Order: sequence, then structure tokens, then C-alpha cells
Amino acid sequence: MTPDFEPVIGLEIHVQLKTRTKMFCGCELSFGAPPNTLTCPVCLGLPGALPVANARAIHFALMIGLALGCELADHSVFHRKNYFYPDLPKGYQISQYDEPLCRGGELAGVRLHRVHLEEDAAKLIHLGASGRIHGSEQSIVDFNRGGTPLVEIVTEPELRSGEHAREWLSLLRATLRSLGVSDVNMEEGSLRADANVSLRPAGSTPLGTKTELKNMNSFRFLERGVTAEIERQRAIIEGGGEVAQETLHFDPASGALTTLRSKEEAHDYRYFPEPDLVPIATTAEMLEQARAAIGELPAARAVRFERDFGLSAEMAHLLAFRSDLGDYFEAANAASAADSGHAQQLANWVSGQLVARIGEQDPATSNVTPAALATLVELVSARELTNGTAREVLDVLLQSGGDPRAIVAERGLASLSDDSELAAIVAAAIAADPDAAAKVRAGNAKAIAALIGPVMRETRGRADGSEVTKLIREQLGV
Ligand code: ADP
Ligand code: MG
Ligand code: ZN
Repeated sequence: MTPDFEPVIGLEIHVQLKTRTKMFCGCELSFGAPPNTLTCPVCLGLPGALPVANARAIHFALMIGLALGCELADHSVFHRKNYFYPDLPKGYQISQYDEPLCRGGELAGVRLHRVHLEEDAAKLIHLGASGRIHGSEQSIVDFNRGGTPLVEIVTEPELRSGEHAREWLSLLRATLRSLGVSDVNMEEGSLRADANVSLRPAGSTPLGTKTELKNMNSFRFLERGVTAEIERQRAIIEGGGEVAQETLHFDPASGALTTLRSKEEAHDYRYFPEPDLVPIATTAEMLEQARAAIGELPAARAVRFERDFGLSAEMAHLLAFRSDLGDYFEAANAASAADSGHAQQLANWVSGQLVARIGEQDPATSNVTPAALATLVELVSARELTNGTAREVLDVLLQSGGDPRAIVAERGLASLSDDSELAAIVAAAIAADPDAAAKVRAGNAKAIAALIGPVMRETRGRADGSEVTKLIREQLGV
């Protein structure tokens, strides 16, 4: 990206709510049920069927609005958004237009435009080449998904790169997950994001013409798609052309961006108030219930971690926004002696060594209990284990669980705490390499590595590196 252009990105995020039934009918929600088994006249759009709004979905939407600091409307209206598509049997989607449930709000420095309730469309399955009839490709429809409650969250155009968009969306997901209102799984489609992208000259305020990337279904694709679109627009502008307002599809396999449709406007949808539903009148009681249902949010948890455990802001944030890590860290901390002061080391081991080994897996499902990790950290800080051997013990714990002290005893991994034993090994290493010893004596500090190596090999990593260096210097009198 040349510094002359600033990328401008706004996200529209769809969140499937984890209610028992659909948004406007009593059909159950069940991911993976046999196709077209969870339907009724309402969600199939049969004439005369009447919708009834799902109170629990409204409750969840209010929780989301509160958690994101939105202004909640006490009067909010459902509208019909009219368009034709095979996944929309009524010929319109019940959504919200100019009187959404929530406006404004903010998360991690990015302001929100609005948050509203709507229903999901059915699922279209494109059969591809195998499904050709009379030479053309066929698609089939599963109406089970049609009518699933959705909350749409629209940001202001305040994200600045593909990476920023991905990171911010992961913070939003953590926040939504902590509310327990959705599975927020991008692969399964319970969290979906469209990205609006434009460029403008750096330092200028007016927005450039935007394109919209539809339905990014993973965090990685979102980042890659936005990055690719920024580059595409930059090439157009630098080549003297103009970006056309259109909706694009990003193909993660090829990296290609292809046009889905050109410019569409709100008036194309002929929005009008849904005559079969009363407006949502949000009462103080509904707000109180929503507020009471919200536990500690990741942002607040990060503040607490920083304050109570002395973690850096960055570390506190990392653990708080990956709640499985935060839970594990808190459990390990509780398992270690109350005022042991090991919180920072525990945080380092959880976010560093443990995550390096298990990646995205929830550590609570690994073989390492929080108490075992706490013990491991205690052994290191009491210098009974070196960092290197502690990592070995962690590998054993991950393989087969157990107690670190037992593993250390079984495998003879305890640090060489007996100074005379270590001193003898150091003396032997010096005697075995008089050349290196002479160099170190003569002031060549680097030559000491040739003496440290054999000691570490001889002690199989059970000696502390700085202790070994100290002993060598002592024995050589430098
Ligand atoms: P539309 O009517 O096309 O849906 P909206 O104004 O409702 O457009 O905005 C939809 C999303 O696009 C929002 O997240 C908004 O922040 C973002 N957006 C709007 N204009 C731009 C722009 N010029 N560049 C990037 N994002 C934009
Ligand atoms: Mg839009
Ligand atoms: Zn139904």
C-alpha cells in the first residue's frame, strides 16, 4: 500500500442467535437436521400465515446492544425488505430499516452504526457440475435455516486493513461468545461478515466509492479478501481508472475477486413497515433482564487481569479475549499458592509454551491440568527445574498427563542443585578444552560458548545456563 491512500473498511456482521425456535414461528432451530424438516406455513411464506416475534431473540439482541454500548430504542419497527430470490419464499425478508433496535455503540475503538434484528434466508446448495439437468447447473433449497433469528451489526467505516478487520472481528466474536447468545462459528455460518472497502487519499475525509465483499466465511479469508480488494482498488486508481460500486465474491482458492452484482440502493428494496407485527416496545423490565443476563465481558475482564494480576495490557487482553485461555489461567492461578506472585509467569506459560503446542484447542480439554501447570511454574521459579527441562515436562504432561513432580523424579530432570557436582563438570569441561579456556582468560568473551556447550550436554539441560557461565568465569578467574 502506498502511503498516499488510506484504506477504509466497514463490516456488516450477521450473527445467528442461539434461540430454541425461529424468529417469527415455532419451528425449532437445529444445525444439521435433515433438509426441509423444520418448516411451517410461516417460515415457508404460505399465504395467510402470520408471524409472531420471538421474545428470546429480542432479549438476546438487547443483551448485545447493552454489551456493545449502544443506545437502545424504546420503540423499534420491523420492515419488509422486498426482493426475489429462491431462498426467500415470502418475496421479502423481515428486517429493520429506519427504526432499528440499537444505534451507536463501540468496541475496541471502532464505533458501531447500528444493531438490528432480522430473519435469515433459507440455505441454497449449488450442486455444481454433478447436478446438471439439461446442461445447466442446479441448486436446491433447504428451508430449515429460513427464519433463523439474526442480529446484524453494522460498523462505521473505521477499520484500516484486512488484518485490522480480522482482529477486530475476533474481539467481537469473543464478546458475543461471552454473552452466550450465539455459537459464533464462521465455518458453520453462525457468524458471517460482509466487508465494505474503499480507498481515499491519505488525510482526506470524504469517502471513496466502496465495493462490498460478501460472506467471508473464515477469519483468514476475511483478511485475505480485504487485502486483495485494497490492492485491486489501488491498482485501478493508480492506473487512472475509477472504482465501480459493486458487490464482489472473493474466491479464497484462487484469490480472485469476481463481480456478483452492480450497485444497489435501499429504494430498490421498497422497504415498508411489516403490517403483521407490532413494533417492539422495550420496557424497563426487559432492559433490566438483559442487563442481569450479561456476565463479565472480555473488555472488563482484561481490565481486571491487569489490575489484579499485574499483567501487561497486551497479555491481559490476549487472555481475556480468548476466554478459554483466560479461564485456564485463572484456574491455574487459583491452584497455585494464593500470594505466590506467579501470575505473570503463569500467563507467559499459558499464552506462550502451552498455546505454541495446542494452538486453538481449549487447554481445559488437554492433558495438562491447571494445577499441573501451576506446579511446573513453581518448580521453575524455585529453580528446581530449568526452563528447558520444564518444557520437556510440559511435553510429557501434554502426552500423558500426570504430576510434574513425579515426572521430574521419574526422569531425573531435577536441576543440578548440588554445586559441587556442577563445579566438577565445569572443571572437567575446562580441562578438556585448554584452547577455549586460554581464549576466555585472554579476554575473548565469545569463546566461553565452547565451554558451556559440553557442560549443558553433560548435564542434559538440567543446569541453569547463567549459573554455568558464572562458574566457568569463577574457575578461570575472569
Ligand atoms: P449500504 O447502504 O450499501 O449497505 P451503508 O451506508 O449502510 O451502505 O453501509 C454499510 C457498511 O459499509 C457500513 O459498515 C459502513 O461503515 C460501510 N461503508 C459505507 N460507506 C463506505 C465507504 N465509502 N467505504 C468503506 N466502507 C463504507
Ligand atoms: Mg449493505
Ligand atoms: Zn416455521
